[in-house]
Amino acid sequence: MFSGLTFCADCEAKMYYCTSVKFEKRRDFFGCSTHRHRKDQCSAHYIRSVVLEDMVLRHMQMVISYVTTHEAHFRAVMGARLKLASDEAIRVNKKKLAKAEKRLHELDRIFMRLYEDRGTARSPTSVFPP
Ligand SMILES: [Zn+2]
Repeated sequence: MFSGLTFCADCEAKMYYCTSVKFEKRRDFFGCSTHRHRKDQCSAHYIRSVVLEDMVLRHMQMVISYVTTHEAHFRAVMGARLKLASDEAIRVNKKKLAKAEKRLHELDRIFMRLYEDRGTARSPTSVFPP
């Protein structure tokens, strides 16, 4: 369930799901991939999958309890966060749009000069500065 989503707290590498020799679910764990391949670069960090699942479940229950108890506050906080993220996205996209429009205008000028050069039989390479 959490494969590819867990990372070592020390080296920040992915942690890989490992099953026990006897395939007992309670012994399955996520282990640091760095330690798995280069034992001298990270310790043997691991977390048993049942412990991780329990921690995530408890956290989800805590968040759900908070949201149901303080729904108005949660909505206000999340709304503010989403607005910040969307304002930033709008700013970045406006910048991209301005850059693309500027390039489009440049291309229009180049095409127009190429067309005019064709009409006067000048070399089209003359539109490009050396
Ligand atoms: Zn590690």
